[in-house]
Amino acid sequence: MRPFTYRRAATARSAVETAAGSAGVMYLGGGTNLVDLMRLGVLEPATLVDVTHIATDAIEERPDGGLRIGAGVRNGDLAAHPLVRARYPMLAEAVLSGASGQVRNMATVGGNLLQRTRCSYFQDITKPCNKRLPGSGCPARTGDHRNLAILGHSDSCVATQPSDMAVAMAALGVVVHIEGADGPRSLPIPGLHRLPGDEPDRDTLLRPGDLITAVDLPALPLAARSRYRKVRDRASFSFAVVSVAAALEVSGGVVRDCRVALGAVAHVPWRVEVAEAALRGAPATEAEFARAADAELAQARPLPLNAYKVPLTRNVLVRVLSELAEEP
Ligand SMILES: Cc1cc2nc3c(=O)[nH]c(=O)nc-3n(C[C@H](O)[C@H](O)[C@H](O)COP(=O)(O)OP(=O)(O)OC[C@H]3O[C@@H](n4cnc5c(N)ncnc54)[C@H](O)[C@@H]3O)c2cc1C
Ligand code: SF4
Repeated sequence: MRPFTYRRAATARSAVETAAGSAGVMYLGGGTNLVDLMRLGVLEPATLVDVTHIATDAIEERPDGGLRIGAGVRNGDLAAHPLVRARYPMLAEAVLSGASGQVRNMATVGGNLLQRTRCSYFQDITKPCNKRLPGSGCPARTGDHRNLAILGHSDSCVATQPSDMAVAMAALGVVVHIEGADGPRSLPIPGLHRLPGDEPDRDTLLRPGDLITAVDLPALPLAARSRYRKVRDRASFSFAVVSVAAALEVSGGVVRDCRVALGAVAHVPWRVEVAEAALRGAPATEAEFARAADAELAQARPLPLNAYKVPLTRNVLVRVLSELAEEP
């Protein structure tokens, strides 16, 4: 591992000023992804600014009934919080489905949102990879893409965004607060992460030196009836092959409202806008859920080894919506 300088920031502002002052600075959350990538030689920051001591570790109720989650809140604390469990069960379930208890106790909300793809070529510095080394090529397109994207990918990159938490946050429609060189601003999810296009080295719309300080969950009564379903190769300690975060409001046998997002199918947590539009006002039946899923997945462009993800995604989506519709 290349030698680096460690600094501990006391405030968000001082962290941003340190990042603005020199090249090669990266923020350190729990380090559960960043330090792994440094060990592999994928990332070689000159300076790490530890942002876990800047008082962003609180979960607070907002006046409108939503919650503000500090970027430094540990994943385990987020999933265990009584208000998160009661009001946004899909979010608690998504976080609990990821990693292990030890990793969740270290990992932070900010770091989770910005964790890098698990594409094996990205993590192997002996291989070309447009995301790690722009212009070097994408061996995954003709190589191992079994668990890569079926939606929104480009010739340059077919990687997927790996965060389970981000999928639930995309379904909920959260707002991410950022402290940047020019002051504070915000970005929604969906909207923080970007599709690869011809710049796959850019995972998000963040600018250099941007620090995530908090995430606002909206007041969303229908999210109390929500769930996260994750299909993976083994029962625990495994990233998603396909995941669905969904909230559904049904009355009189009709879908009144819904919020649905897919994970492990694209370079972003994929909000199913086409399916949601088809569902609102439709009968809450398996046939309508299948019709909506098919409408969404008509956009899919699977590669030879991941075509199985299209019917898998459809089936998981239909199952989750059917289960939510049957809930008393
Ligand atoms: C064995 C293992 C299994 C895992 N399984 C899963 C899984 O199934 N599902 C899943 O979703 N995740 C999984 N993970 C990933 C895990 O969730 C992430 O490693 C973790 O959430 C990252 O959080 P962190 O605080 O440790 O981030 P770090 O590693 O500290 O940072 C990650 C990135 O975010 C940046 N960063 C950190 N905080 C901020 C901030 N406040 N503002 C701006 N940038 C910031 C860093 O500079 C870095 O680029 C797994 C990890 C491991 C090690
Ligand atoms: S899919 Fe993206 S991350 Fe994977 S090898 Fe291709 S460019 Fe790199």
